Amino acid sequence: TPIIEFKNFSYYYPNTEEPAIKQIHATIEEGDFVGLIGPNKAGKSTACLSMIGIAPHILGGDWMGDVVVNHETIQSSNVSDFTKIVGVVFQDAESQFTQETVEDEIAFAMCNMGFERSEMIKRVNEVAISCNLTEFLERSPFQLSGGQQQRLAVACLLALRPKVIILDESTSQLDPKGRDEVFKLVKELHRQGRTIIMVDHNIEKMAEYTTKLMVFFEGELKLYGPTSEILQQK
Ligand code: ADP
Ligand code: ADP
Repeated sequence: TPIIEFKNFSYYYPNTEEPAIKQIHATIEEGDFVGLIGPNKAGKSTACLSMIGIAPHILGGDWMGDVVVNHETIQSSNVSDFTKIVGVVFQDAESQFTQETVEDEIAFAMCNMGFERSEMIKRVNEVAISCNLTEFLERSPFQLSGGQQQRLAVACLLALRPKVIILDESTSQLDPKGRDEVFKLVKELHRQGRTIIMVDHNIEKMAEYTTKLMVFFEGELKLYGPTSEILQQK
């Protein structure tokens, strides 16, 4: 069943003449693990931002076509609804942390959404286990290693139980150990049934973990299909 559908979607950042992504037409199915590859500036980050409506509904700018998430078209009037369905982790996870402890950081979004205390505690413990962070709950987010910080960023999203997790170059600043930790975690989340969308330059890891690949070039989606087929064509 489709979870994210691009319907001839193009997007122009404010005050730009050329679209950052053009005429993207593609469907991501629930349970897919999709890798986005292609050179810098090809449109991968912009595609990620479009899947939660940041582009265009938060950043502004012009667009054509639609992005449909969980069978509903993203619009400026409903864009905030999609944070419960889709979560994004960025490369610089650290810059988004605001709390003094890992525990509070994980609970932060739930706090803002008015969750009951007992439910928050339950979910903090649950996601800390799945992201292998239980021993760090009392620590400062800023004292964690890069890999641990990425796992914390994932934990913060998971607390809201999204169907889709997007990782935009989450591993690019990590050492091999940190990178393996992140891939191991997303593999497990995928196994549990979540849809994973990942931008990463490590083609070997992408070949090993993803089920499908999207190849971007100059704002266009040039190839999209099962990972093995795409790698044969490259
Ligand atoms: P990638 O993630 O593949 O490196 P991006 O989606 O970041 O590609 O970039 C696609 C195009 O959009 C590039 O030409 C880039 O310069 C442009 N772009 C990205 N962010 C912005 C922005 N905030 N304002 C204007 N242009 C942008
Ligand atoms: P990424 O590593 O995600 O591809 P980039 O290195 O392309 O990101 O861009 C880093 C930051 O600069 C992002 O916030 C992006 O939105 C912004 N940016 C990229 N290209 C442009 C541009 N042409 N004009 C304005 N901002 C841009």
